[in-house]
Amino acid sequence: MSGSLLVVATPIGNLADISDRAREALKSASVIACEDTRNTGNLLKLLGIHRPLVSNHGNNEKEVAAALADRVAAGETVAVVSDAGTPAISDPGFRVVRECRRRGLPVSPIPGACAFVAALSASGLPTNAFAYHGFLQPKSAARIRFLETVAAQSEITLVLYESCHRIGSFVAEMAEKLGPDRVICVAREVTKLHETILVGRVADLLPKMTGNNLRGEFVVIIAPKDFAL
Ligand code: SAM
Repeated sequence: MSGSLLVVATPIGNLADISDRAREALKSASVIACEDTRNTGNLLKLLGIHRPLVSNHGNNEKEVAAALADRVAAGETVAVVSDAGTPAISDPGFRVVRECRRRGLPVSPIPGACAFVAALSASGLPTNAFAYHGFLQPKSAARIRFLETVAAQSEITLVLYESCHRIGSFVAEMAEKLGPDRVICVAREVTKLHETILVGRVADLLPKMTGNNLRGEFVVIIAPKDFAL
């Protein structure tokens, strides 16, 4: 008799976004696989939940996936979380889910916060068709290639994650490669105290995105090429 793997979303900044189902899932798990045991330990402390943790991050995910799937096969409930948001979305989680699927073991999502879905839903940019590209390559040449080959002609909305170190230069690159009139959204610190969601022509947003004091976490959304506000 097999147990199940629960893919549990956690808040992206505002603790109140934890769902009742997520609390129950974390409480019911015999083990919680997490990206960083300190981060998840702090979250569990705030929620008053005491469960064993195992670390599941970029470097050990392959080996840990098999061990976690063994536990599911043996009848345990295993929860997988990441530091924030939905596991497996630009975060660890994919490998253990795939391993359980390969073995025909039950996997259930416990949905909740996801930064790009939250930003997209509040952007006013088209949501009927979009492509999520996660983090682009850090090198400027790769990001410019993406802008020239994918974004310039895109007829659907494009969604990306970008770091605070590159957000200023990326907006400048968008202005150059996509033209001043392309509509974009830059969503910063979504659900947090300093949440800022800017939507407009890239030329209008560019002056707000310069300087060295751009801190926090960012989602970038690029509207389809012919979209006007
Ligand atoms: N799994 C997560 C999710 O469901 O959104 C994404 C994890 S990814 C490693 C982290 C990136 O997501 C950040 O660098 C940032 O680009 C974006 N992000 C996470 N939280 C955010 C927030 N509160 N506001 C804006 N962007 C956020």
